[in-house]
Amino acid sequence: MTTAEEIPAATFSLELNDEQRQMRDWVHGFAESVVRPAAHEWDEREETPWPIIQQAAEIGLYSPQFLGHITSDPTGLTLPVAIEELFWGDAGIGMAILGTSLAVAALFGNGTPEQIAEWGPQCFGTPEQVQLGAFCVSEPDAGSDVSALKTRAVYDEAQDEWVLNGQKSWISNGGIAAVHVVVATVDPELGTRGQASFVVPPGTPGLRQGVKFKKHGIRASHTAEVFLDEVRVPGRCLLGGREKLDERLARAREGRRTGQQAALGTFEATRPAVAAMAVGIARAAYEYALEYAKERKQFGRPIIQNQAISFTLADMKTEIDCARLLVWRASWMARNRKPFEAAEGSMSKLKAGEVAVWATERAMQILGGMGYVRDTPVERWHRDAKIFTIFEGTSEIQRLVIARAISGVQLR
Ligand SMILES: Cc1cc2nc3c(=O)[nH]c(=O)nc-3n(C[C@H](O)[C@H](O)[C@H](O)COP(=O)(O)OP(=O)(O)OC[C@H]3O[C@@H](n4cnc5c(N)ncnc54)[C@H](O)[C@@H]3O)c2cc1C
Repeated sequence: MTTAEEIPAATFSLELNDEQRQMRDWVHGFAESVVRPAAHEWDEREETPWPIIQQAAEIGLYSPQFLGHITSDPTGLTLPVAIEELFWGDAGIGMAILGTSLAVAALFGNGTPEQIAEWGPQCFGTPEQVQLGAFCVSEPDAGSDVSALKTRAVYDEAQDEWVLNGQKSWISNGGIAAVHVVVATVDPELGTRGQASFVVPPGTPGLRQGVKFKKHGIRASHTAEVFLDEVRVPGRCLLGGREKLDERLARAREGRRTGQQAALGTFEATRPAVAAMAVGIARAAYEYALEYAKERKQFGRPIIQNQAISFTLADMKTEIDCARLLVWRASWMARNRKPFEAAEGSMSKLKAGEVAVWATERAMQILGGMGYVRDTPVERWHRDAKIFTIFEGTSEIQRLVIARAISGVQLR
């Protein structure tokens, strides 16, 4: 028999360490004191909240250092913990602040150290002059089906320049970003394996914003079309460099494995982070509904005294914790380079997105009429939550990715 003293020290813990708790509380403080009070105004204005992004930059929350810090923690947990707090504050403003990180993730995923050093800081600008990044994949005829991208990149050998032509759609920060990372097709015959990512530096002629979409939710986050008309970028703007691309295309043409693909690799890496955003909204709605249910009286007693209400709250808490645990697992796996063999990144995004939609709807029900009007934030949270079953891969696409991973069958 092993005595209690002989049991080896625990190597598994879900307890946040001091540094993670400090980071969580610091982001929470900003979310509570700056983001949440501004949320209603910027949702109504449907504009990029530049002053709030600037405030985030002044305290270092909108900066390459912050992203570097939350992504370097060896447990992988600081990233989802920080993101959950920001989105607990507000998802529209949260996206306005974190939309840039999609472009930065593409840079980190595909770029050389020199490219990361050159373009990473330009995605953020400075606290005096904040700038944004945009990650441009989706097109009018290529949403879920990324292999159908029509935007072309052709190399002009004489000038050592890439020439980009095409139309992007649904781009967060599209047209207002300083740095656009554009996924384009170099060899259309090869589908996603013939695609590459390019940096379009600030002020490059030929890139312009099209329609800015009026949205159901996350309205403080700018979403627009981007047109690329004879956009010329220097050869060094091809992420990963020419040699690597030529090698990859040659392997694909010979029918050999090519490793990571430009857009899909970025999405796989960012899914747990996007899932953490959804957990933040769900938690905000749950907390609000819990307090309301304890205070609101009908039939002479608080409505929480009805099991219909208290059990709903119990289910909400359980589902949110379940989503968070999937997010933490995926973040830990990603940080520790454990392959997503059962598409654990997609699982976290699927669960968290669906929980956010469900929990915000339940919160609205618990508030009754007060949940349906703009006097309380629940109505906005419900609208904001819906995007999490649509962007970064719809719920159906997450299920497709999981089904493929667990079955090994090339489902389409
Ligand atoms: C607010 C917002 C911000 C966005 N930001 C960005 C961004 O910054 N960068 C970017 O590149 N993109 C961005 N997107 C695009 C987003 O990723 C796409 O909208 C999403 O991938 C879905 O593509 P789609 O809209 O063309 O829908 P479609 O692909 O046309 O899908 C329509 C429906 O068909 C279903 N469907 C499609 N294929 C299958 C299948 N094989 N099996 C089962 N069901 C299927 C889908 O799940 C969905 O329900 C953004 C979108 C929005 C709305």
